[in-house]
Amino acid sequence: MQMFRNLYSNLIKKNSTNLSSNVLRQPYFIRASNYSSQTHDADLVVIGSGPGGYVAAIKAAQLGLKTVCVEKEATLGGTCLNVGCIPSKALLNNSHYYHMATGKDFAMRGIDDTAEVKLNLPKMMEQKSTAVTGLTSGIAGLFKANKVTRVDGHGIIKGPNQVVAKKADGGEETINTKYILIATGSEVTPFPGIEIDEETIISSTGALSLKEVPKRMIVIGAGVIGVELGSVWSRLGSQVTAVEFLGHVGGMGIDMDVSKTFQRTLQKQGLKFKLNTKVTSAEKTASGIQVNVESAKGGKAETLECDVLLVCIGRRPYTNNLGLESVGIELEPRGTIPVNERFQTSSPTVYAIGDVIKGPMLAHKAEDEGIICVEGLTGAPVHIDYNCVPSVIYTHPEVGWVGKNEEQLKEENAPYKIGKFPFSANSRAKTNADTDGFVKILSHKETDRILGAHIIGGGAGEMINEAVLAMEYGASAEDVARVCHAHPVREEAFREANLMAYCGKPINN
Ligand SMILES: Cc1cc2nc3c(=O)[nH]c(=O)nc-3n(C[C@H](O)[C@H](O)[C@H](O)COP(=O)(O)OP(=O)(O)OC[C@H]3O[C@@H](n4cnc5c(N)ncnc54)[C@H](O)[C@@H]3O)c2cc1C
Repeated sequence: MQMFRNLYSNLIKKNSTNLSSNVLRQPYFIRASNYSSQTHDADLVVIGSGPGGYVAAIKAAQLGLKTVCVEKEATLGGTCLNVGCIPSKALLNNSHYYHMATGKDFAMRGIDDTAEVKLNLPKMMEQKSTAVTGLTSGIAGLFKANKVTRVDGHGIIKGPNQVVAKKADGGEETINTKYILIATGSEVTPFPGIEIDEETIISSTGALSLKEVPKRMIVIGAGVIGVELGSVWSRLGSQVTAVEFLGHVGGMGIDMDVSKTFQRTLQKQGLKFKLNTKVTSAEKTASGIQVNVESAKGGKAETLECDVLLVCIGRRPYTNNLGLESVGIELEPRGTIPVNERFQTSSPTVYAIGDVIKGPMLAHKAEDEGIICVEGLTGAPVHIDYNCVPSVIYTHPEVGWVGKNEEQLKEENAPYKIGKFPFSANSRAKTNADTDGFVKILSHKETDRILGAHIIGGGAGEMINEAVLAMEYGASAEDVARVCHAHPVREEAFREANLMAYCGKPINN
């Protein structure tokens, strides 16, 4: 993670002599059995060590705050590193290689198999675990180097200036503090009436550790996580059907043009979709799992069968046993903690960031909020432009977008132009024989300012960051069109789409 590296290099530059305190002289890892009734004094307690919490804790320590981070799980890194972004991307990457090697792709490139290509699933899982362990222990190392005190246990807020960490062995540690930062993240949203056992009825967590490839898999939900994990198991040989309540794949925010191409491409790869369809119930039988579905509008019902059912209907904020009542914080209807523009809750010493507050549930959004929230605590301005937070789906082809989609602009009656460029006309994509997809730029009809960028194609997850940078600086399509790009690269398609938006024939309006 870039943020991870920045924090590390900042550490090297930082003179830490102003970080004097008792806390800093304590070991960063405090074992429950040895210190079960210890008390700490801190400037900031961060509850939760996901990408929001650990990044905030390190930044706060670098800014001179005596910082404690309380984590209830055995490893640091939260959902993202343990059961989210990192393990899913490891499986996506390796299953993509397997799919290329076992499909027609390699042969078309002149790479003939000399031996049968076989899946070694335990080895693939081992590579995933190695990546996870390396990164989670990396955070422990960063905590130590930055003098963040790690406290094991479930953090409970006892008042505006106190957090107690409850240990598994019944002991506890008390931290008296100026500020509290809640970064407790989110958990899998359960499906009413369908019990997850993480073996045959699984959540995203179980889907990252299956011991064998199921013959038939049904995924409830064709949003980002559903299509990513569906793709993994489809590539490894499962017959995957995704049942989706909405009429499109890719979740909220995706441009419909992109979504249609995305669905077609995934279908070519073997995934099946049942859109506008709701799951009503599921039960285990002798031959597998029966999943009852009906049209989203009601009516036509049918029963589908599978060996593994993956429930992927989203995530919900996690605030269980957090002690919010002790500081009078009331949750919003969707379970999020209400905060102001400085991430301050109704209790002035208590702040919250990441998945537990409103906004997209994304690791980079949590990280950015963590950084600017603690900068704000030390007097710096606090600003984040949520319109410039990108979304990426890490399938092949990848999908990346930022800003407004065409449907939103239509709804807002905003005058816009479209610039679109297919990868089939991009020299690098053609060279690589990887031409699925396009770049679509939406810019303001009068000012030419970029309003949104939507990319489907290999490398979209990286390319979208060029759009984010342009939009953060308020660039026009012409600005990007006039920037020299290396050749041959896929990003030339991004430049061409901006050129089309700026001076090409407008497609719309
Ligand atoms: C399968 C999957 C794939 C994903 N892929 C991506 C992706 O590619 N890109 C992306 O941007 N996002 C992705 N996400 C979402 C991303 O993981 C989350 O948005 C991100 O982790 C949120 O960070 P956070 O710090 O707010 O919370 P979390 O990462 O959920 O961390 C919260 C931490 O707080 C701890 N905690 C909770 N309550 C307490 C307590 N009372 N005391 C002590 N500790 C507590 C938890 O144990 C946890 O470690 C994915 C999620 C999943 C499930």
